[in-house]
Order: sequence, then structure tokens, then C-alpha cells
Amino acid sequence: MQEENERVKKTGKMERYDLIVVGAGPGGSTAALTAAEAGMKVLVLERSRYPAEKNAGGFALSSKAWRDFPFIRDMELPSMRRGTQCVAHFLSPPPEMEERFCIASGVSRRAGYPEAREFFTVTMLRREFDRFLADRAVEAGAELRFTSLVTGLVKDADNITSVVLEGGDEIRAPVVIGADGVMSATARLAGLREKWRPDEVISACAVDYSASRERLDDVVHEANFQAYFGPGMGGNYLMSYADCIHIGGPGVTNSLISRVSRTRIKPARELLETIQAPPVQRLLRAVDAVPREFHVHCVPWKDSMSEDIYAGGLMLVGDAAGLPEPLWAEGVWQAMYSGRLAAQVAQEAIGEGDVSAAYLARYLDRLRDSPVAQEFIGGAQLRQLFEVLGDPQAAGEMTEMVVDLTVNMFMSGQEPKAQTVARAVPILMENLPVLMKLLGIYLPMIQEGGGELPPPLAALGGMDALFGAAGGEEPEP
Ligand SMILES: Cc1cc2nc3c(=O)[nH]c(=O)nc-3n(C[C@H](O)[C@H](O)[C@H](O)COP(=O)(O)OP(=O)(O)OC[C@H]3O[C@@H](n4cnc5c(N)ncnc54)[C@H](O)[C@@H]3O)c2cc1C
Repeated sequence: MQEENERVKKTGKMERYDLIVVGAGPGGSTAALTAAEAGMKVLVLERSRYPAEKNAGGFALSSKAWRDFPFIRDMELPSMRRGTQCVAHFLSPPPEMEERFCIASGVSRRAGYPEAREFFTVTMLRREFDRFLADRAVEAGAELRFTSLVTGLVKDADNITSVVLEGGDEIRAPVVIGADGVMSATARLAGLREKWRPDEVISACAVDYSASRERLDDVVHEANFQAYFGPGMGGNYLMSYADCIHIGGPGVTNSLISRVSRTRIKPARELLETIQAPPVQRLLRAVDAVPREFHVHCVPWKDSMSEDIYAGGLMLVGDAAGLPEPLWAEGVWQAMYSGRLAAQVAQEAIGEGDVSAAYLARYLDRLRDSPVAQEFIGGAQLRQLFEVLGDPQAAGEMTEMVVDLTVNMFMSGQEPKAQTVARAVPILMENLPVLMKLLGIYLPMIQEGGGELPPPLAALGGMDALFGAAGGEEPEP
């Protein structure tokens, strides 16, 4: 490759492609695969030495990806663990942090497509998954160059016309897809965004462990995603792969700005608190877990979909476009989906001989009509949900309410049943404020999504009567 670049410099010929993709993450490789399959001459420029060099850890890919991308249906990677159960643990406050209650749930039979009725996610290591996707793109005919840092974009009067690599080499293409992640240089160089606002990005830290595959099969089995909540700790998650574990958070639960306002700005300390919680320690011991890596990354975390994601000759996809969804910041499927859409629009634009911003606006239109945009419905409310869960008092009240209801309604053999069951109504009445808080989050979401209010609530006068004109606000006492 070096020789080829030297030859180009000497002969003065500039390399030309139909499409340049910056970044070989899930978004970039899916864009390259789509474009190469359509017969385009595609170049992928990746700054790292191999795919996912920066993403040492693993992730969970939801069943949506199996619905939407047939080429992953046969994917077999050594680190894969299928998740047919997810578990939420609610802990008592520090320093005790013992299990107060725990919900383990299988998939819902009401889920809207067959794969979602079979499994939630498959967990796996990014270095295997990103390599798998990059290999598919190369097999389809895309050219992939590693150690190629894009440092500049060249523009004519209206459109981006080429990219510039560190070292000065310039490569031309009528369309560039910026799939270069959360710190996107292409977004900045194209003048679309200087940087994320503090409330649009989070830092997520994680510890990775190697563990015994056999023990994980026995102890965790297919409960590959578990979350830990507790008064004052937001929420952390534990993912299990075939032979390793990843414990992450708590950045995913609060934007930097809300953390600052609550003076909880030490995400690593909160993560370590969770790791030290006795139930987590028991699980780690049971699977012979040995820590091997600590890492911190940023992820975009927006409550609405970005609009400034294209310019003449350029489209942004995945994290570069701010597309992770607003609850757990899941972003791999979003990157793949947007990468495919952008490549399709690039092909059409080149076919029509019009790569202007006005033409590429159809990328945003298609994204708006897609399930990626639907994930943002109720985004603002979802943020509030984490604010409630992260509030020590509200989280504590909710936890104790569920414990009281569960024990008194059917789990207790300690007292006569008629006595304990009679406590249910007072328990619910005492907890009305926190229940209303939760309703105030979920009902506006239902309405924003075009859904009908449940008849009993509609009969009480609807959102305005229940929560005030703005919805989501607490009722007058
Ligand atoms: C700790 C953590 C856990 C997560 N867990 C999940 C999860 O479980 N499930 C999920 O769906 N999502 C998860 N996410 C989010 C997910 O990682 C991202 O949304 C996803 O990686 C976005 O893909 P992408 O292709 O847009 O960008 P990236 O995966 O970031 O890829 C961008 C690529 O561009 C390259 N690049 C950057 N700049 C340049 C440049 N100037 N020139 C050349 N190359 C460049 C980078 O090296 C990188 O390879 C998690 C994120 C974090 C931080």
C-alpha cells in the first residue's frame, strides 16, 4: 500500500473511487459491504491496525440485527453467547449492597418479529465482530486500508471531493461516508459539528474479565445481560460472553451534565462500588473471573435524532451521526442500519450525477422513516427514567415497595396470609408519589408514539388532568 501511494505521488495521478468510507467499525463496514455489492468501487480508510483496536471489550447485539441483516444469520464467532434471559438486580444502599429483589425475565411472546420472540441479544467481542463485518466488505470487493488516518477533507464550491490522509496523500471520490465514530473528524472537517454538547455524550467505563467457559455455561447460561440498580448508584450492567465477562457503566445512566448537577462525577468509583457488591463478587468467584482490562470510551447519548448529518458529498453514519438510542446507548445496529442507508443513497446520487447536499438530504429523510428514528420516540422521557432510578430516595422507595408487595402478597410464610395480603393497598397508597412519577414518564411516551391512553386513565381526564399541561410533571397535591 505504501508503495502504491509512493507510485501515485511520483506519477502525480490521484487515486479515485466511487465511495470512500472513513472508519471500519460496524457502520463503515456495512456501508462498504452494501456499496461493494452494488458494484461500486469502494475504499475504506481505518486509522487502527485492525478492526476494533480501540474497542477491546465486548457488546450485545440485539435480535433486530438478525431481522435486518441476513448475512449475519450464519455468523459463528468464538466469543458468542446467546441471551434468552435478562436479569435486573435491585440492591440495598451502600455499604451493604445486597440483593433486595431480582427480576429474571425471558423474551416476551408479544414481541413484534420472530427473532425477538426467540432471544434478546447475542453478546460477543468487538474485535471478532468488527473483523467479521470488515471481511464481508472485503469479500464483496471493497478495498480496506489500515493505519490510514483521515486528517482532511477537500471541498469545491459546494461538495466534498476528496479526503486527505495523515502524510498528505489525497484520494478522490464523489461521496464520502463518515463512519469514524463519536469523535468524528469528518463531521468536524465538514463543518457539521465542532463537538458534542455535554448533554449529548456520555463516558462509559468498563472492566473486562476472562472467565471459565464451563462455569459461565452453568452459572450464567443464557442470562447474558444483567443490570444492577441501587439507591444512588444509577445502573451498571454485566454482560457475559462465551468465556469472559464485561461490567460497565454507569455513564450510560446519566449525561455528564446531570452527573455534574448531582455532583456524582466519578463514574469509575461507582463502577468499582458495584463490582465490590457481594452478589457481583459471588458471581465473579463462581465463574473464576480474572480482571484483564479497564477501559473508558465516549458514546453519543442524545434524546432526539440529529439532523445535521449530511453535506454536499458527505453523509455521517453510526456514532458519527449521534445515533445510539437514548436508553442504553445501544449503537451497533444503528450504525449498521444507517451505514446501509447511506450507501444506498450514495449509489443513487452517483447514478443521478448529483451528490449535492440537496440530493443527499434523502438520506436524512429515509433515516427519519426508519426504525432508527423510532428508537428516539420518548427519548426525553427515557432520560427521566434514569434520573428517577439514579435518585437515591426514589430508587430506594421503589425497591422497598416491590419487596413489600412481593413478600406480603405471596412469598411470606412468616405471618397469616390474610394479614399480609391486606397490607397491599396501604403499600400502594404510600407509594403513589413514586408510581405517579413513573406514570408521568411512560404515559407521555405512549402518546408521543401515537398510542392511546389506557381507558381508566383517559376516564380520569387524560394527561393534562393527571400531570399538568406539559405532561410528565407531578400532579398538584
Ligand atoms: C463501553 C461501551 C459499551 C457499549 N456497548 C454496546 C452494546 O452492548 N451494544 C451496542 O449496540 N452498542 C454498544 N455501544 C455503542 C457502540 O460501541 C457504538 O454505538 C458503535 O461502535 C458505533 O459504531 P460506528 O461504526 O459508528 O463507530 P465505531 O465503532 O466507533 O467505529 C469508528 C471507526 O472509525 C475509525 N476512525 C476514527 N477516526 C478515524 C479517522 N480520522 N480516520 C480513519 N479512521 C478513523 C476508528 O478507529 C473506528 O474503527 C457501547 C459503547 C461503549 C463505549
